Amino acid sequence: MSVTTEIKRLHHELPEGVTLVAVSKTHPAEAIAEAYQAGQRIFGESRPQELRAKWECLPQDIEWHMIGHLQTNKVRMIAPFVALIHSADSARLLRVIDSEARRVERVIDVLLEVHISAEESKEGWPPTELDRWIASGEWREMSGVRFRGLMCVATNTDDVEVVRTDFRAMKQLLDRYRTVFGPEFDTLSMGMSDDYTDAIACGSTMVRIGSTIFGHRYYPPKE
Ligand SMILES: *Cc1c(COP(=O)(O)O)cnc(C)c1O
Repeated sequence: MSVTTEIKRLHHELPEGVTLVAVSKTHPAEAIAEAYQAGQRIFGESRPQELRAKWECLPQDIEWHMIGHLQTNKVRMIAPFVALIHSADSARLLRVIDSEARRVERVIDVLLEVHISAEESKEGWPPTELDRWIASGEWREMSGVRFRGLMCVATNTDDVEVVRTDFRAMKQLLDRYRTVFGPEFDTLSMGMSDDYTDAIACGSTMVRIGSTIFGHRYYPPKE
């Protein structure tokens, strides 16, 4: 399948109210340009350097989303242009996003990444910690950040019931936190190539799809 065919198919298939983030990490600018020609405007990347380089050479009306783990010392590189950070996973990172956003006179949209799966991983807030941080009210002082919703990566398993349980728990969290943050807290970023239909059935409003559109990724050796 070509990039064009897949983009058109997804635009046709995704229900109203579900936004497609085309995950272009590791793929060259030409592949992104093809998706752009097919009508796609939102792209997700997971490395700040790569995101910045692609932003510099591709059309200015692209909305660039940061979906991967973000180190505090890399925020400055993307703060001037990033449209949405999906992976805000600590108070420390949020403080840096807030100050970098104010430095460039922007308000940056963020999603709080929740560690919803039972797997060991450093990424995402454990739900109890997130509860505690939200209750602390620190976020109210962050004028450079707009809290837009939640993001997760579901448990990596073939057992669809486990995956659906993660997605349902996320939807409940979104509904609960929306009463705290207000109506702008409306985005639930969940669902990837293998599980996006289940995610949508459970209330996802934003799917992050990479390999279905662009094919396999070939990671360069670690720097
Ligand atoms: C790479 C990545 C995706 C896309 O995964 P596919 O399985 O290729 O669709 C989605 N979300 C995150 C956080 C990713 O890192």
